[in-house]
Amino acid sequence: MTWVPLRQDWIRRAACTDEDPELFFPVGTTGPAEREQEEAKRICERCPVMRQCLTYALRSGQTSGVWGGKGERELAELRGSASARRRAGVSTR
Ligand code: SF4
Repeated sequence: MTWVPLRQDWIRRAACTDEDPELFFPVGTTGPAEREQEEAKRICERCPVMRQCLTYALRSGQTSGVWGGKGERELAELRGSASARRRAGVSTR
């Protein structure tokens, strides 16, 4: 896990500020939870800080919920590919 500053100014511009948090942290991975996750991702698509949110999620090691338009499985895949690049000595910046 990488150090990340506690103060995250970008959050004030988040498109999900007034949305139901349960959309972004659905319980389960099928049925209603899958629909909630897809709805959350659609909100992310119109979010002006999607890139910052995804970067924050990856750097702070978030493992649950939708962040930056990515679900839990996609976040894990991105973390895995970033780790592989680091192990191979390829810059991730
Ligand atoms: S990208 Fe999605 S989860 Fe992240 S701040 Fe924007 S709306 Fe919220």
